[in-house]
Amino acid sequence: MVMTKTAVFWDIGSCPVPYGYDPCLVGPVIKSELKRSGISGPITITALGKLKLIPTDVLKSLSSSGIALRNVSQGLGGIVACLLVWKFRNTAPANLMVISNLKLEPDVEVEPHIFKNLVSELSLKGNRLLWAYPCVPSEPSCFSAVVSKTWLWTSLLEAPVDDSDHELVVSKDKCVLSRPWYCSVCHVECHSFEDFTTHLKSEQHDKRELHFLGLIEHQQTNV
Ligand SMILES: [Zn+2]
Repeated sequence: MVMTKTAVFWDIGSCPVPYGYDPCLVGPVIKSELKRSGISGPITITALGKLKLIPTDVLKSLSSSGIALRNVSQGLGGIVACLLVWKFRNTAPANLMVISNLKLEPDVEVEPHIFKNLVSELSLKGNRLLWAYPCVPSEPSCFSAVVSKTWLWTSLLEAPVDDSDHELVVSKDKCVLSRPWYCSVCHVECHSFEDFTTHLKSEQHDKRELHFLGLIEHQQTNV
């Protein structure tokens, strides 16, 4: 059994909680499946995405089960940002699990080579990379070459949960990027789940999001 810490970065936009699935089970099922793969130790799970699009009751269940919530303008871009921050705050070896389709959206500000270099560097430093994807990729991604284990997202969710894993013990080490409720569009850390959902519905957030999108449009027209 490998007792190293594990950080899970989950792009909830490309790998959503299926309709009818209990969101409270997502954390425990990941923990159980990692244990069956020989990985134990402290675990942090961060759900990233445009969280205003996710039903509040789903977010609440995820948050109450110990999953950190991070609002980002784009799922994979958010994962890259998290991995970069993680790299500076942590040392190898660790397990880094990415749950995403790893496809860059047209408005993303991340160059493919940045992601490629980052995952290569993390792998070379001795970190174990794991990947859960929503469907089998039609062509290999740069992540495929360095990843040590893969799952199909829907199959992973159907895996059995060990009784001892129903309580998701969240790591208090440096895997935690910030407080569990963070809006990276506004750079706002919230003190509670209620503050976080209030922030996402606020005029301040809407304005910032529009400003952000406007900047991207402006950049694209000037290329
Ligand atoms: Zn915001």
